[in-house]
Amino acid sequence: MRPIVSLAEGERISELGDVGPASREIDARGRLVLPGCVDLHTHLASTPTFKPLDDFEHGTRAAIAGGVTTVVSMVYQEDGSLRRGIERGMRDAGRSLADFAFHVVVTDPSDSARAELLGLVRDGHAGLKVFMVSPRFVERRADYALLLRAAAEARAVVAIHAEDHAIIAARTATLHASGRTGVQHFPESRPVEAEVKAVVEAVDLAESTEAAIYLVHLSSRAALDAVREGKRRARVFGETRPLYLYLTRAQFDRPDAALWVGQPPLREPDDVAAVWAALADETLDTVGTDHIPHTRAAKLAPGLSFDRIPPGVSNLETLLPMLYSEGVRTGRLTITRLVEVLATAPARIAGMYPRKGVLAVGSDADVVVFDPHVRRTIRAADLHSACDYDPYEGWDVTGWPESVISRGEIVFDRGDIRAHVGRGRFVSRSAAT
Ligand SMILES: [Zn+2]
Repeated sequence: MRPIVSLAEGERISELGDVGPASREIDARGRLVLPGCVDLHTHLASTPTFKPLDDFEHGTRAAIAGGVTTVVSMVYQEDGSLRRGIERGMRDAGRSLADFAFHVVVTDPSDSARAELLGLVRDGHAGLKVFMVSPRFVERRADYALLLRAAAEARAVVAIHAEDHAIIAARTATLHASGRTGVQHFPESRPVEAEVKAVVEAVDLAESTEAAIYLVHLSSRAALDAVREGKRRARVFGETRPLYLYLTRAQFDRPDAALWVGQPPLREPDDVAAVWAALADETLDTVGTDHIPHTRAAKLAPGLSFDRIPPGVSNLETLLPMLYSEGVRTGRLTITRLVEVLATAPARIAGMYPRKGVLAVGSDADVVVFDPHVRRTIRAADLHSACDYDPYEGWDVTGWPESVISRGEIVFDRGDIRAHVGRGRFVSRSAAT
């Protein structure tokens, strides 16, 4: 087999193909040489009231060890100001090992927040996030529509958590009233119909405002059908997250089910099949981790009702190897499609393409040398997240990153993190392409 050779001069790729001798050579025979992955959905930044277990330093250790060289983190509007949230994110990201950018969560879609948009986009912050699942969305629907219209004009993409607040609130109240507050009731508190109703409403909003929307963590067949239909009439991108590819609601029969609590909940085997099919047929554009782990103790704290368990899990380090092992090796995804959903499409949607997401002359030299044959058993103790458990503990995986290069620098090599804290750089975003 002829080795693939690429040459990074400085931080960018200057030549591809059969290049001459270099000062440093990596033998990639028998390996896959992939563009660094771009994760459009993480929660590594703090808020005034919350400090994540995996902050930028710990989260991006896990990221680069898993081949993710660019992370996009949520930051939250602060004291009414979108920019203040981004400034906090920038401070936190001062400890990032990976390159980074932000989506800013809009909790108060005020006139002044809308007025900030053009300036933010000019400064490379072309991403917002809206939680339809929040009661505020219900109270301020008209203002959120104005926000989406302003985002369309500013050419910012709007990430949307699509679950219907009213349905979930009603289900939760009914379960509580009958004393069914245990974690096993979490899935029924957030039914598929809540996801579908919100997806349809989000697509309607995208159609009427002409905003580009990015529907995060899609989990069910019916929601994916709504996305498929929505893509015909509006600018709609779709994301799923790893949990929905590998696990089902059966997890909630376990006594430690709280370890897998995330929003939306795990679904049925038929939904898992639909998520795989939607990744292959391009209804889904990306897999984003929604990385936000909490310790076992926090997840399993005694007496927590199902709606009080902190949602979210760790996923940055296993994103690429599990999708390779469970997707490419099983024939459910081609390797080309894996690169699209983990690198190229997220870079395009984030407005970072072709700087990120592709191996091309002029692009940042973000490269994963991936060993497709190595076998590993996932153990939290071997991973770089600060979390003390992994949602896939004990899974056998074939294929793992061997070396990871970020802007020409070897940041991970055969198990060792080589990057220094704070080397990550802000990646300016423009409009989605
Ligand atoms: Zn999230």
